[in-house]
Amino acid sequence: MIKSIKIRLLPNNKQRTKLFQFAGAARFAYNWALDKQMENFRGGRKLQSDYDLRKEFTLLRNSGEYPWLLSISNNVTKQAIKDLCRAYGNFFRKQKRPGYVRYSPRKITHCARVGKKLTVYDMNGHPKFRSRKNCDFRFYQDNVKIQFTDTHVKLESIADSKKKNRQRLNWIRLAEKGKIPVGTKYTNPRITFDGENWWLGIGFVVKHKLKPMRGLKFVRKQPARPYTEGVGIDLGIKDLAIISDTNKVRNINKSHTVRKLKKTRRRLQRQVSRKYQMNKKGDSYCKTSNLIKSEKRLFRINNRLANIRANHVHQATRAIIDRKPRFICLEDLNVQGMMKNKHLSEKVQEQNLYEFRRQIEYKAHWAGISVVIADRWYPSSKTCVECGYINKDLKLSDRTYICPHCGNVIDRDFQASLNLKRYGETELSQSAS
Ligand SMILES: [Zn+2]
Repeated sequence: MIKSIKIRLLPNNKQRTKLFQFAGAARFAYNWALDKQMENFRGGRKLQSDYDLRKEFTLLRNSGEYPWLLSISNNVTKQAIKDLCRAYGNFFRKQKRPGYVRYSPRKITHCARVGKKLTVYDMNGHPKFRSRKNCDFRFYQDNVKIQFTDTHVKLESIADSKKKNRQRLNWIRLAEKGKIPVGTKYTNPRITFDGENWWLGIGFVVKHKLKPMRGLKFVRKQPARPYTEGVGIDLGIKDLAIISDTNKVRNINKSHTVRKLKKTRRRLQRQVSRKYQMNKKGDSYCKTSNLIKSEKRLFRINNRLANIRANHVHQATRAIIDRKPRFICLEDLNVQGMMKNKHLSEKVQEQNLYEFRRQIEYKAHWAGISVVIADRWYPSSKTCVECGYINKDLKLSDRTYICPHCGNVIDRDFQASLNLKRYGETELSQSAS
């Protein structure tokens, strides 16, 4: 099994400069290759293979026209060209697929004469030039040469000198300790910049059951007792999740910290837009240093909010999986349908409901727990747990369920989770027999 992980890097100033240079070189190579392929395409010629392009790029690099390219690791530009060739190939394959429906006739702008045939192409999905403006800083590292210790990662040719004390510059500190196993096979290391921090995304091969990670901050003092049976989980807005064992996971967006952050964000958003208006010159906007500063703060707050939400979902799903239920039953959420309701859409988006389901599914898979997804039209909250009566008149605002048939009174969401648990039981016993 290959497990992938994203980990934050803590580069020092020199390393940081070099990372930006690498990303710039990757962008340069990508754009250069795109330009080449587009020329071929317009001229009706065959596309070049990435092998040919890479050879041509090496000549360009050694020609001395761009001296700064010489100090950059070859692998960075190599992979950028490969990426472009793949993207371009995908674009063509899509066009030639039988039954391909063109997105919009107005967007078809390019014809190519290949042989005698004139082919019209839909330019949707055509690779774009990568721009510096929208923060597109990313590059690749060779998966064989990359090395790890518990605390550091070694990247290629950050140091120019071969001297031993200079070589230390190649080792960048990681924000978390012992997360990546040392001395295994790694796949596809990618380094990205999100506007504030540098990140390393990498996959590695896991042979056996994973050992507990070192350096974990949160250790529960008393481990929760394992479940003896399965659980049903109802997802919602009021609380993130209601579990059939009467536990619930709260909605983090109602917490004091998040509300405060959102308030600050609103203030900053107003400030930024006001500053844009103030510095408008004719049709163009001009960025002052104060404006850039506020934008950076706004970015940080957005990042922080996203992190708090992501962390909350991770902890909640982990806690459920760690108690080893026999199975987990979730409902098939119609998130897109919920998004259409304008009163709900923001809250649904904040709640990361789909992410919750995704995490439950993959973490359960790792732990060997089966997951049942209930049918979308299964009336989980409308069915009475006591007598099975389906109350079709139940509104979204009715938080308590009062059964018109047997008079049972129960919390609506809790009832849904109980029904889901029952659904999972019947589903599993059916598939077993
Ligand atoms: Zn009833």
